[in-house]
Amino acid sequence: MLPLAGSLLGTEWLHGQSQSISNTVLEPGARNFFKELGLRTFINAAGTYTSMTGSLMHKEVTSAISYGATEYVNLDELHDKVGERIAELLGCEYATVSSGAFGAMTIGVAGVMAGMDNKKVEQLPDVTGLKHEVIVQESHNIGYTHALINAGAKIINVKNTRELEKAINNKTAMLWFLNASTEIGSIKHEEFVALGKKHGIPTFIDCAADVPPVENLFKFTKLGFDLVCFSGGKGIRGPQSAGLLLGKRKYIEAARLHTPPRGATIGRGMKVNKEEVLGMLVALELYLQRDHAKEWKMWEAQIKLISDSAKSVKGVETEIHVPPHANHVPSLKVRWDQNIIKMTASEARNKLKNGHPSIETVGSEKEIGITTWMMEPGQERQVASRLKEVLSNA
Ligand SMILES: *Cc1c(COP(=O)(O)O)cnc(C)c1O
Repeated sequence: MLPLAGSLLGTEWLHGQSQSISNTVLEPGARNFFKELGLRTFINAAGTYTSMTGSLMHKEVTSAISYGATEYVNLDELHDKVGERIAELLGCEYATVSSGAFGAMTIGVAGVMAGMDNKKVEQLPDVTGLKHEVIVQESHNIGYTHALINAGAKIINVKNTRELEKAINNKTAMLWFLNASTEIGSIKHEEFVALGKKHGIPTFIDCAADVPPVENLFKFTKLGFDLVCFSGGKGIRGPQSAGLLLGKRKYIEAARLHTPPRGATIGRGMKVNKEEVLGMLVALELYLQRDHAKEWKMWEAQIKLISDSAKSVKGVETEIHVPPHANHVPSLKVRWDQNIIKMTASEARNKLKNGHPSIETVGSEKEIGITTWMMEPGQERQVASRLKEVLSNA
């Protein structure tokens, strides 16, 4: 299968920027590892999901990873230099490449709790004598706070500003915000940061799935959050096992004390070696250089194509939407009158998954959810025609 053939918007997408993943097309004689292993590969119409192995890396990124595998360097010196370079690119005080956004949260809060005291560093996750309470809005506590608990932190849930201020005491270490929950939490960014400053408590925002828009890479450190994290393997399309921790130098230097090569630490298992460090840096450079407006137009056109194709089947209804925070990309919901098309959405999703090519989507019993941002150019046409076929044949 040549996914690049017949791109919706013509070949400018293939040549104008590093949009196509030429390494998905096997060189003659190359090993097809997934086939050897008996694994199903698929068109990703779902989005950036860890279970689906995240995103695909551009050739420049995989080249950087291959390069990294060919020489030795000092691990700390590498992290120092790349941290400086990323901070320069993103206009923040300091940065480090972490083991995903989740790893960034664990070492970030560990840095806040233990500071630069090596004894305290080795003491974690035992928090005896340390400030270790992290205040979180209840609506923001959807599971990722486990990254903080891993370091020994205790989560204190609050509903609003009054409860937050009441919860602050001499054990409070940090205030944590989940950007994806911005709409449903009563305290918004500016007020949250102001509360942290008022009480002298550092603030951390989880922005794991929050590019696009690219501006978010700059926005939250400027807004005054002390620490900000992003996933490396979502919108930035770096290594899925990497991430970014951005913000105040004093906290990031403290966070680094929990990472390899240091051994007696909670972060020893969150190693980020040279391959991922270089891959992350190059993915970020590429992401910053990309023509984001053009890419957005392409996604809109792809979503419209799939929507129109689905709607051409009698009884089908579609909705095009853009989530306000996290996975902020043109997205499609496909629903139908199940009296006319006698199939649940789960059944249709299974047909798409088990067909040729295999197509992964998200959804429920009532609707199919589709995004195109993790597809290769041209795959939107395959998805459009398969979806129509599945719905017509029900
Ligand atoms: C994906 C995600 C994480 C975990 O990020 P990794 O990079 O996979 O470690 C954390 N928080 C949110 C909101 C996420 O979407």
